[in-house]
Amino acid sequence: MTDRPPPHIQLRTQSGSDDRVLPFAIDQQDMRGRLVRLGPVLNEILDAHNYPANVAHVLAEVLTLTALLGSMLKEDGRLTIQAKSDGAISLLVADYFDGGGMRGYAQFDAAAVSNYGRGASLNALTGRGYLALTLEQGEDAERYQGIVDLDGESLSECATLYFAQSEQTPTRLRLAAQQDETGWWRAGGLLLQHLSRGEDGGPRLLSPDQQEDWNRVSTLMMSVRDTELLAADLASPDLLFRLFHEEGVRVFDPVAISRDCRCNRERLASVLARFPEEDLAHMEEDGVITATCEYCNTRYAFDRAELTPDAA
Ligand SMILES: [Zn+2]
Repeated sequence: MTDRPPPHIQLRTQSGSDDRVLPFAIDQQDMRGRLVRLGPVLNEILDAHNYPANVAHVLAEVLTLTALLGSMLKEDGRLTIQAKSDGAISLLVADYFDGGGMRGYAQFDAAAVSNYGRGASLNALTGRGYLALTLEQGEDAERYQGIVDLDGESLSECATLYFAQSEQTPTRLRLAAQQDETGWWRAGGLLLQHLSRGEDGGPRLLSPDQQEDWNRVSTLMMSVRDTELLAADLASPDLLFRLFHEEGVRVFDPVAISRDCRCNRERLASVLARFPEEDLAHMEEDGVITATCEYCNTRYAFDRAELTPDAA
């Protein structure tokens, strides 16, 4: 385990479990899961923007869910989770690239979100809409998309509904995010699934014995408190042991999460160069065209002459 200085030495609470996804298995019961804690990476992503606290809070949860699910990807994969709605927050997006890179952003109506408190629910902030999980995998970027209505009160409820409808894998999920008085964000998430055994495609029907095991272990899992998911001084393996020690929990190597925006000047120039002349003329100011990456808020400026298709 990583050395952790006592929390009082640090201005901001961090631990060796931060920005790590810890996979685990409960072998006897054919269950697997993941525990994620986000700290510095979450703050880097949110710090690029000046989002109201309630917007940052739900985006933090989307990033946490994306870390949990994205870390299950095989090589050459990319997972995008989007929540689109007609509400105060019209769009929440997070990407996970294989290797652990993450990015995300939100689009919202500033006046509308100011009507809601800091901890307003996803349901209140988004209104009617849907949650889409898009997976691109393999060299030819084979694409798979699953969609569920934004029906639940919280993101974890919506995602649990998604698993019930699309994946037909018995799944329980908990997500928590919080900003402390210094402005520092922390988030945590816990996912538990019953492993399928060679019955791909069909609905998962648990035998009565399995059902009993699932009920017992998922009840233990759902007993986790938000304060435990968010506690910087409670290492991830210790939290798993606290929850599941009677079931024989086994942890695997953690997956490190980092901030990774894949925008760059050359790629953006080649995209802009394909814009119709009329649009470019509209964007131009004193011979300069500027574009801002919505994920990381980096502003790129181009001379109009740079953006001819030949130059790109
Ligand atoms: Zn960027």
